[in-house]
Amino acid sequence: MLSYALLRRGNQEERNTIMTYKITNDCIQCGACEAECPEGAISMVGDTYVIDAAKCQDCGSCMDVCPNDAITKL
Ligand code: SF4
Ligand code: SF4
Repeated sequence: MLSYALLRRGNQEERNTIMTYKITNDCIQCGACEAECPEGAISMVGDTYVIDAAKCQDCGSCMDVCPNDAITKL
């Protein structure tokens, strides 16, 4: 039981560090979010924009500026 409790706590901590914003397939690659992000967390990788979870500070600016509602909060 103790190990189960520790496992659950570990999973909760893991959830807390998971990226909360994601760019979906609705992205039309306008670049607005990259320009808006104050942390430089958004960049093009290959032919899609991605959010670097390590840099993202959860400000929500990218969601606000996206013209195609292509950024979702998980
Ligand atoms: S939520 Fe803010 S910090 Fe995170 S990717 Fe979007 S604009 Fe950047
Ligand atoms: S603002 Fe929206 S449509 Fe434009 S590049 Fe970012 S995610 Fe894609």
